[in-house]
Amino acid sequence: MKIIIHRGTHQIGGCATEIRTEQHRIIIDCGANLPGSEMDDAITDEQLLEKLFHRGEPCDGVLFSHYHGDHMGLYREIPQEYPLYAGATAKKMLECLTKRLDSIPGTIKKGLPRIQGIQPYFPNKQLIFGDIKVTPYVTDHSALDAYMFLIEADGKKVLFTGDFREHGIAGAKNTLEKLVNTYIKEVDVLITEGTMLSRMEEVKHNLIQTEEDLGRRAGELFQANKESVILVSSTNLDSIMEFYHGLPWGMDFVCDAYQAELILTAMADKGKYYARYRPKLIHGKPRRFCIVGEMEGLGAEQNCCKADFSVLKKRGFTMLARESNPMFQRITAKFHDPLIIYSKWTGYLEGKHADPKIRNFIGNYRMEVLHTGGHAYAETIEKLIRLTNPEVIVPMHTECPENFGRTEAFEVYGDRVKVLQDGEEYLC
Ligand SMILES: [Zn+2]
Repeated sequence: MKIIIHRGTHQIGGCATEIRTEQHRIIIDCGANLPGSEMDDAITDEQLLEKLFHRGEPCDGVLFSHYHGDHMGLYREIPQEYPLYAGATAKKMLECLTKRLDSIPGTIKKGLPRIQGIQPYFPNKQLIFGDIKVTPYVTDHSALDAYMFLIEADGKKVLFTGDFREHGIAGAKNTLEKLVNTYIKEVDVLITEGTMLSRMEEVKHNLIQTEEDLGRRAGELFQANKESVILVSSTNLDSIMEFYHGLPWGMDFVCDAYQAELILTAMADKGKYYARYRPKLIHGKPRRFCIVGEMEGLGAEQNCCKADFSVLKKRGFTMLARESNPMFQRITAKFHDPLIIYSKWTGYLEGKHADPKIRNFIGNYRMEVLHTGGHAYAETIEKLIRLTNPEVIVPMHTECPENFGRTEAFEVYGDRVKVLQDGEEYLC
């Protein structure tokens, strides 16, 4: 089996990996470059697409590990004849998201038809592409319904982690260890993300290490602040569910119809597996969502009601917001000394990735950062290496793969690390 990481050996995001045998080939992820992360010598999106899909070679399928744009952002450009695959819940989330994006005035290439054509895959249910077998396993990540892939071909076993962690909701109760010991077991090659390798200092100083920590601290902030606004990605459902459950009784949860739709979809699918994805019951009834903006068909049946701030201000509330939507800024301007809870990567606040829209939204409001990353800490990667005992470890989705073998947590595995270059063919 040949592994070719076309992009992503030396950068975070924009990744695409090809797995091929003599007869068959599949692509895992086809991501757009994260804004500001383009490297001078990395191939462009156009070059990547040309290499993957326009050289007259058949392709059995394109599998997306999760719905983040840096893993699937180029899906619109993938020729129709190549089937796309994603997790079943991830597909539903993508439909919500894409409907919204398609309706932005000026959007020329609509994404929804392609998203609707995605073939859903399911946890632990093997997919067969000729002589390549792929088994998706649910993994914890800041995108809901994210997967690792166990790839089996030519007598070899390769585990492709995609983005993962174990400090969120799906990773609780030592799920990763149980998953590996029960299903995955030892592998020949581990292709692992290493995002956090360049963010280790940042992590050390963050008191919030897990989603549970985040929920606990959010509860304290809600108690102390009657009016708060949370800047969080609408698709970061683990954090949103922690905020939802952390809100004290008597206070209300405010969001817009889009956010409510995503939360309701997530709860419907994941509530059966995780208690945190079930409604919070207040006097036997699910906590309601107070909706700002258009109701978009939501009503009492979905526990939604129109937000009425004359009532909400008396009771206390928290509101999910998006800096990109001016409605939230207008509403926030009417609050009395609100606390902004900033729940995104701190890199967007200052430095080369700074986002002026976020800075502008926060303005002079009081702000507290409350965020936990979507990626595995070094200890988690070490645990996965120990459990899968691979002969070869290929780091990707990191800015510094060369440091991988030198990182204290997995120095002992240093001689197994194989740093690949973008586009290099690796025969295993
Ligand atoms: Zn991701």
